[in-house]
Amino acid sequence: MKVNRSKCLYCGGCVGVCPVHAIELLETRIAIDGGKCTKCGLCVRFCPVAAITSDDE
Ligand code: SF4
Ligand code: SF4
Repeated sequence: MKVNRSKCLYCGGCVGVCPVHAIELLETRIAIDGGKCTKCGLCVRFCPVAAITSDDE
């Protein structure tokens, strides 16, 4: 999964949504750990500005 940094509001909401804790709020951006991510899609559906997309798209 990847985060579009120009769309992201840095609200941090997606961090709590991820069931495997793959999303981290860093100092200036959101980081998604591709090793932990199961591609469940929850964060994609949650993000209010559709900033998270699949790597496959
Ligand atoms: S939910 Fe969307 S806007 Fe909010 S921090 Fe996550 S990626 Fe950014
Ligand atoms: S797709 Fe699922 S597992 Fe991957 S970062 Fe989003 S919520 Fe977490």
